[in-house]
Formats: sequence, C-alpha cells, structure tokens
Amino acid sequence: MPSASAASTPPGRDPSRRARAGEQAKPAPKRKVAPSAASVPGRPIAKVPKGLAAQKERAVEIFQKLQQLHPDAHCELDHKDAYQLIVATVLSAQTTDKLVNKVTPALFAKYPSAKTLAAAEVAEVSETLRSGGLGMYNQKGKNIVGLAKGIVERHGGEVPRSIDELVKLPGVGRKTANVVLGVMWNIPDGVVVDTHVQRLSQRLGFTKETTPEKIEPALCKLFPRETWDPLSHVLIFHGRRVCFAIKPACSACGVNELCPSAFRAENVGRKNRPPR
Ligand code: SF4
Repeated sequence: MPSASAASTPPGRDPSRRARAGEQAKPAPKRKVAPSAASVPGRPIAKVPKGLAAQKERAVEIFQKLQQLHPDAHCELDHKDAYQLIVATVLSAQTTDKLVNKVTPALFAKYPSAKTLAAAEVAEVSETLRSGGLGMYNQKGKNIVGLAKGIVERHGGEVPRSIDELVKLPGVGRKTANVVLGVMWNIPDGVVVDTHVQRLSQRLGFTKETTPEKIEPALCKLFPRETWDPLSHVLIFHGRRVCFAIKPACSACGVNELCPSAFRAENVGRKNRPPR
C-alpha cells in the first residue's frame, strides 16, 4: 500500500528522481484534507446561531458536554459549613484557592465560628493569615473580622440565605454571595463570574460582553436556573485544566467542535495586559 506522502505526490514529481538530478527538494505541496476533524487547525469556525432559542439549545449542549468532561467539578475552596465557605471566598480575592486552602485549617481551628472570629483581634487574625503564606494579610484579616461581626450582629452568627442580606455584609459582593448560595443551598441568584467564567463565556460564544456585571445576566438569560451553580463550576474546572488563558489546549478540548474560538482563542477573553 503506498504511503500517504507517496500517494499525495503529483504525477511527474517523483522526489527520488529530483534528488538524483541534484535538484533541491521543495516543500511538499499541502494536501487537501476535508476539514472534518475538529482538531485540525484551519477548520471552519463553529458558528453561534442567531435566534435565542437556538443559542439556548447550543449553550446547554456545551454545558452537558463539559459536565461529562468534568463530572467532579465542584467548589475547590475547602469548607465544612457556610461560615467557613464565606470566609474562604472572601480570602480568595486575588489569590488561588490552593493558597487559601493552605491557610484556612489553622484559621478555622483558632476561630471555629463567626462569633469567635468576630471577637478576635485583627492583628492576630492577620498574623495567622501571614504565617500561612497568604498575601494582603492585613487587609484580609480586617475584612474577615468585619464580615464575622456583621454575621453576628445582624444574623445572630448564622450566615443568611438571601442575596439581599448577603450583599449587605461587609466585603461581600454578588460573586461571593452567589458562591455561598449556590454551593451551600443550590439557590444562587445568578451565575458566579470569576476570571475563568469570564474568559470561557467569551471564547465559547455565550456572550460578547466583556465585564462580569454584563456577562452574568447574559449567562442567566441563556441557561436554565437549575444549571447556574454547576455551570460556574464546570467552566472554572475547564478553564483551570484545558482552556488556559495563555495557550489554551484546543486540540485536547472536548468541546472544540462547538467552540467559535477553537485554535484561535489566545486573544479572546483575556484581560488586557498592562503595557510594559
Ligand atoms: S480550549 Fe479552545 S476549543 Fe476549548 S473552549 Fe477553550 S478556546 Fe474553545
């Protein structure tokens, strides 16, 4: 059976004859391959349909595929209850879940409840964070003591279960509130849009919006309410493991056939980098 390269050599252009004649080998002409395999660069760009109904259908299809790819997708901040989760989420601002998970065991051993944290000295709390290797420990120590005081003074030490009450707590925005509502009780008021969700929503063609404030309502419009919490987890898992900000692994991506940014995603959905 002829090899693929021999089969693709045009008649009269036998490379061995050319070599014998002392000709310099020219690069082999590009083979014409039907762009059927999704992993082949240069394939047609996956289209996002126009109507909302079709967009919803497509969005759910991608979500289901991502769920199959990441069946264990979950909140990666270690916690045992709502108090620990809300504190860990506040600590996770501008740092990684891994670093937060390194510091919280000692923190929660010292301050096992909102009441104990509310009564603590900020300097002592900050020192616990610092010794665990967390950055911005002074500010974060102040933030979580303030948060614990709010939980104790306004809610008797129990983390409230409504978005309106949560966002009134010191240092709690919609993102933190929705993490707690979604992970603890599966009653989020929206989709958590972190840096991964922001990037992937744009790359996968869920929205053209570029800010979390506008991406969140766009996702809520596209996805059924019961998927809001798991959606953020699968997007975060996919963003951390496959669809990296730099050099996304498109050829290994299980949704590349449906992704309009596949093999051209490098500059899609990334935050503007400051000029050097
Ligand atoms: S890895 Fe590539 S194909 Fe997959 S979602 Fe990200 S940009 Fe799209």
